Amino acid sequence: MAITPAEKEKLKKKYAEERKKRLRADGNDQYIRIGGKFSHYREDPYLPIKERAPKTDHVKFAFIGGGYAGLVTGARLVEHGINDVRIIEKGGDFGGTWYWNRYPGAQCDIASLVYMPLLEETNHMPSEKYAHAPELLEHCQTIGNQFNLYDNALFHTAVNELRWDEDDQVWHILTNRGDDFTAQYVGIGTGILHVPKLPGIDGIKDFKGHSFHTSRWDYAYTGGDASGGFMEKLKDKRVALIGTGATAIQCVPHLAKACETVYVCQRTPSSVDVRGNHPIDAKWFEEMATPGWQQKWLENFAVNLAGGGAEEDLVQDGWTDMSRRVRDAMADFPKDVRSDSEEMLEAVENSDFEKMEDIRARVDSIVADKKTSESLKAWYKQLCKRPCFHDEYLDAFNESSTILLDTDGKGVDHITEKGVVVQGVEYEVDCIIYATGFEVGTSLIRRAGFETYGHDGITLSQAWSDGMRSKHGIHVRNFPNAFIVQPTQGGNFIINVPSNILESAMTIAMIVRHAEDRGCQTIEVSQQAQDAWVAHLLTGPGGPLGSPDCTPGYYNNEGRAMVPQARYAVGYPTGAPAFFRYIKEWRESGDFEGIDFA
Ligand code: NDP
Repeated sequence: MAITPAEKEKLKKKYAEERKKRLRADGNDQYIRIGGKFSHYREDPYLPIKERAPKTDHVKFAFIGGGYAGLVTGARLVEHGINDVRIIEKGGDFGGTWYWNRYPGAQCDIASLVYMPLLEETNHMPSEKYAHAPELLEHCQTIGNQFNLYDNALFHTAVNELRWDEDDQVWHILTNRGDDFTAQYVGIGTGILHVPKLPGIDGIKDFKGHSFHTSRWDYAYTGGDASGGFMEKLKDKRVALIGTGATAIQCVPHLAKACETVYVCQRTPSSVDVRGNHPIDAKWFEEMATPGWQQKWLENFAVNLAGGGAEEDLVQDGWTDMSRRVRDAMADFPKDVRSDSEEMLEAVENSDFEKMEDIRARVDSIVADKKTSESLKAWYKQLCKRPCFHDEYLDAFNESSTILLDTDGKGVDHITEKGVVVQGVEYEVDCIIYATGFEVGTSLIRRAGFETYGHDGITLSQAWSDGMRSKHGIHVRNFPNAFIVQPTQGGNFIINVPSNILESAMTIAMIVRHAEDRGCQTIEVSQQAQDAWVAHLLTGPGGPLGSPDCTPGYYNNEGRAMVPQARYAVGYPTGAPAFFRYIKEWRESGDFEGIDFA
């Protein structure tokens, strides 16, 4: 329904008020690193650590991280005849995010057909439009098995240091398991959201009951299992869940069914739109999945999200809907009106207000209690925070077991020996579950937990002290034979990270194949090529994901001004689909312009 200017002004005022409530001087520093009393929050509750002898051998390619980045790069290397690949992984198996995140209800929030990589290669039909975590983990294991990546992998192993050996022209890899081996090439794919964080709430250390972080779900305490099995041990338990982000949205319905009482402690409500999950029809899939189908879907998804140009919308979900709305808002303007003109921006803004009004109306239509439904409404633009989609979250608040403790933007006041204090009232609980997310906005080196030393001992931290510098987000000057797999300074297609990984993996495999075929020992980006790439990136619109006028969150550095280095955290100036086309052409030309092979 179209929004009137008066309604819009009212909403703007409300958004600003709600944002103001949440602004805080400590920004990202409000969170605490897990350590000391909470060290066990980072331990592996799923698999025991197996004893093994330290490795002191040599491999062709070592890859740090056994999530999608390591698996897809490993697979592409094997496809290109590079079989001596060793993946080093902190978890007890492959999977990365999907190894650690086994909380009840976990599922991908991007359609499986574009989120799960290598579906054609593994001949897998996802069971649902949005597959659940056990299937995603199993898919990782399938990739590991199919491409023989298990044989040489090191699990429950954290890298301490990567150091380039100038004399022997190899990388030395040192780990926490006493390994000290070498590799001709290294890949780094340590992920974006993987270091769990805790809120620095007063008294957090005082709580005497049970507690854990969602990314290390304690099924021994709750009962049930990652497939959504009923958590029978919670039937006489009072649980406080802190956080209402994308993780909480998925696990609240399960807690609501299992707990005697679940207190959902909310600082900022998520926007929760329709999910529309459904099983994938085998007959439909068989007819659709002709050779090359997944690449076509990946391209179509990226093009639709980048503002259209595709004749059809294959994925058809909340993300492509968001994009379609923006296009529709712009469609009525004559062709000569610029997309950044005032009237165009206003039309786009209006469409966001209208969408958020629909999402707020959805809360009213589902949640029976008026006070609760009012508190669950999100007062910000849809892309200020990760938009959520779920068809059972809001209904959970109609269960007598589920109590929303709305903190009106302030967060939990403090934690006591017995429970949580919200708005001055203490709620005694048996267990606190932290759905408080992961470190974001810190350096890749800090999150990865190790330093990389290139030519003359220069560290990656030094090389990036003024902001990230790379070519394609993959190659860094002074770090020969090293490849980074992550979205920034490449496609920067954050919405579907696997799209970026697939492109980087193919690029790396083709470069290494090229070097091997020519008997080259080293691969390194030239200074000139790196500088030119970075300069080109800076010609684009840039900017962080969430604008400064958004409610605080990790999309906008918790509402604080960005550090100057953040201006380098950008993608290709003309968008992700253009980058994907460019990088394909670049690697397929066989010239690998800007890369020196020696
Ligand atoms: P988030 O960082 O999104 O959410 C953390 C939550 O903790 C927020 O609701 C935050 O409130 C709240 N919080 C922090 N401090 C306090 C406090 N002192 N008192 C009360 N509440 C507090 O973490 P998630 O784990 O939910 O999600 C992280 C990201 O992981 C997602 O954005 C998404 O990108 C990804 N994800 C992907 C999934 C998928 O693909 N299936 C599923 C789950 C997550 P506030 O908003 O006010 O800061």
